Amino acid sequence: MSTGSPVGSHRVVSPAGALPQAADRLDPDPEIAEDEVRIGVERLNLDAASYRQLRTAHGGDGAAIRAEVLAIIEARGKMHNPVTGSGGMLIGTVEEVGPRSALGLEPGQKIATLVSLTLTPLRITDGLARWDGESEQIPAAGHAILFGRSIAAVLPPGLPEHLALAVLDVCGAPALVRRVVARRPHASTTVAVLGAAGKSGSLSLAAARDAHAAKVLAVVRDEIEAAQLRGTGLADRIAVADATDPLGLAEAVTSALDGRGADVTVVCVDVPGCEHGAVLATATGGTVVFFSMATSFPAAALGAEGLAADVEMLIGNGYVPGHADYALRLFNANPALKDLFIARVGAHETPPGGADPHRAAVEEESR
Ligand code: NAP
Repeated sequence: MSTGSPVGSHRVVSPAGALPQAADRLDPDPEIAEDEVRIGVERLNLDAASYRQLRTAHGGDGAAIRAEVLAIIEARGKMHNPVTGSGGMLIGTVEEVGPRSALGLEPGQKIATLVSLTLTPLRITDGLARWDGESEQIPAAGHAILFGRSIAAVLPPGLPEHLALAVLDVCGAPALVRRVVARRPHASTTVAVLGAAGKSGSLSLAAARDAHAAKVLAVVRDEIEAAQLRGTGLADRIAVADATDPLGLAEAVTSALDGRGADVTVVCVDVPGCEHGAVLATATGGTVVFFSMATSFPAAALGAEGLAADVEMLIGNGYVPGHADYALRLFNANPALKDLFIARVGAHETPPGGADPHRAAVEEESR
């Protein structure tokens, strides 16, 4: 057994000297190094921005989406969407643990990887034959490798795996929101969450509440999503706005917050073009958390400069210590979150209703 680098640099095929996340290509050889762990893959979860890009690019053609995902994994040795630069995560069973692994895992455990698929060596052996290309979650067979410095969570008992996967995929968002809100004065802090009916968005609403924000505003795309949130107790106010329309968004947020911008704005939308609206919707001295993978650094930085906006901007680091446990705790404590997630990813392992089950379910209900 070879000695690996804890950060996985020994798996980088090209370019030389890069770390796995930045690499064009990784080596997914199933033979593990002394500090690595091999996982038997059962289900991949593409991040929302990546799946939306693939779906849009292929006009919703499931077979074409599946073919492209397979081609990316084959070419790169990892699921790293070259357009969005994002990945997702996976669940599977621990197959082999190197003698020097520090992850504390044991063969046979069912786990979720908490590091991005963009840096996880991955080989698929079933051609993704059980996936119709119409959902973010992909039943899959193959293997993946965790490095010495990776992180993983043992799946909690009693929660269907596809729900656990969906929660853990975005678990960095609520932990970061709690941290940002908690360091501000509770009595006056207002929080606006963009994309609030989505997975990271709804968890962020719950985290803002948990951190004692004075007012929590949910910003959603349309009335269907507003109806999903009404009566859940997750938000004090709900505003409908297109997050990619800067002036419309800023107007919607300020009028919902009694004429002021939000102290904390959290971007959980899965489409590009939300940077300027988020900055404009934030009060002077406030903070914008860009959790979305569709965020452009130049658009955010230059847009804020051009607006002379004195706001702090945070990149949503997917890792915050304790993030998985915290997200699961919020999820278990809020039945409304479970309903929102089920509406989005289905009540069962294979979501019914095709590409957009949550919308189909809500539309059905409102008929
Ligand atoms: P999600 O569940 O699909 O939620 C996204 C929400 O944004 C949906 O409710 C969507 O509405 C809404 N939306 C789309 N376009 C909009 C618009 N123009 N105006 C207002 N709302 C709009 O996505 P998610 O899984 O929470 O992920 C959200 C983002 O976080 C993605 O970019 C994802 O890649 C990223 N992410 C980041 C990390 C990290 O570590 N930083 C980790 C995982 C994911 P519809 O469904 O009606 O379109």
